[in-house]
Amino acid sequence: MKPIHIIQDGRETLWRITEADREKLLRLLFHRYPDSEWGTFFRFCYRRTRWGILVTWVDALKPESGDLDRNSPLVEFRPAYIRRALTALETDALGVGVIHSHPQDSAPLPSRADDDMDSYFAGEFECFGNGRPYASLIVARNADRKLSFSGRVFDRGDWLPVKNCLVVGEQLLREKARQESDFFAFTREPAVDGATQERLTQLLGTHAPQRLRNAVVGIVGCSGTGSPAIHLLARAEIGELVMVDPGQFKPSNHQRNHASRHADLSVNPAPTKVALASRLVREISPATKVTGFVGDLLDEVVLDELVHCDLILGCTDSNYARAALGDIASHYLVPVLDLAVQMRAENGILREQIGEIARYAPGLPCPWCRGRVSVEGIRYETATDAERQFRAEAAAAAEQRGVDGAQYWGGTPPPELTVGYLTTTVGAMGAGYAQNLLLGSAKLPHNRFQFDLGLGLLAVVTDDRLARQDCACQRNIGWSDQARADRSVSLPDHWSHAKQTTNNQSLH
Ligand SMILES: [Zn+2]
Ligand SMILES: [Zn+2]
Repeated sequence: MKPIHIIQDGRETLWRITEADREKLLRLLFHRYPDSEWGTFFRFCYRRTRWGILVTWVDALKPESGDLDRNSPLVEFRPAYIRRALTALETDALGVGVIHSHPQDSAPLPSRADDDMDSYFAGEFECFGNGRPYASLIVARNADRKLSFSGRVFDRGDWLPVKNCLVVGEQLLREKARQESDFFAFTREPAVDGATQERLTQLLGTHAPQRLRNAVVGIVGCSGTGSPAIHLLARAEIGELVMVDPGQFKPSNHQRNHASRHADLSVNPAPTKVALASRLVREISPATKVTGFVGDLLDEVVLDELVHCDLILGCTDSNYARAALGDIASHYLVPVLDLAVQMRAENGILREQIGEIARYAPGLPCPWCRGRVSVEGIRYETATDAERQFRAEAAAAAEQRGVDGAQYWGGTPPPELTVGYLTTTVGAMGAGYAQNLLLGSAKLPHNRFQFDLGLGLLAVVTDDRLARQDCACQRNIGWSDQARADRSVSLPDHWSHAKQTTNNQSLH
């Protein structure tokens, strides 16, 4: 057997699973505890990224009677079970891996026998799966039910270590895998100087600032609702912010943008919104890592970074971005809080001051299920200027013929007019709910709700409907890149590609 060398070049595996699937899986793996192990083949999907590989759990190919030896305390996969796994590889585009438990209080680290098993399966599965990766994980629990795990993924000749597992449920957990080197240390995370987070610690406990420092939050849209959310997440000292916005700062943004200064109004050429947001974060929390993209979330490079976020705040209020965020939530198991605002006035009197928050997550209704996106809207947003003109002309010609022109052109949408106090309110709520999901300290009251600042009891309206069972979002939960064909939108050819910025770059 070939010895297994885990690569140490910085590439890694990130593992994502829903809380409900993890519960079921652990019940299966620990059902012979404390003395005996158990295991199962499972199906997963994946995305090869610039930082390594994302592995998303799909389901267990549970052992049936005779698949594993019940009389042995160890896990041994019998030939019939292995044939079932190989057949699964031949039936569709998903990967197949192995997960097994080690007895209570023992280390979840591979034994010699595990090495033999993994090098055998890696070769066989790569061959039957036409080069698909192979994943192997080990879990163990101690008498206090504390869970530990390790894992590795074989892909294109390399073994990549599993570094983290993100568990997506009411609470968003980021669990660190055990490595050979740190297993026996069992040390707690180093305590951080807590003066700036003293109130949070007093309110929720010492674990709270540490969890936030381990978190990665994506913010798509860095202006109206995005910039106040970024502002507060920086003050919470979040570990990493992935910020995405294609736009440049305009004087009309200044009233809502938490990151701009008066001096920025006269800078020529205008700074990007991402650059301003990066500066804001750097000035408040230099330890927060900033990964900024001047570009769009439809860009594959941007998606590479969004799929390693604990959660994403959608702060764009556009149809195509909302649709894409819905896809990311169900395909890549990345929960999204979608923030929106709307203001309407007549003759100097405000008629609407609406804020809205919706959650997209695996199993929940997507923006299509909720009627939150329109195909017309996406068509307009992703069209070239020439296409827009052509459609407008076609519509005018149709009207002249006495035919409804709306089939060609739904008209130019009116500009969204909002002012800072409302965008800041909703952005701050988004940052607050994000922190609570990371800490498990409060639930989102509804998966979607609206309120109006000008009405009695804030006129809260909720939408607690379930997902439509026939919607695409329910068919391929966790299918990662293997659900590519089911994506709602893709990057239009005429859009420029994303440019990455880092903490220390200038304003452009
Ligand atoms: Zn083992
Ligand atoms: Zn749906």
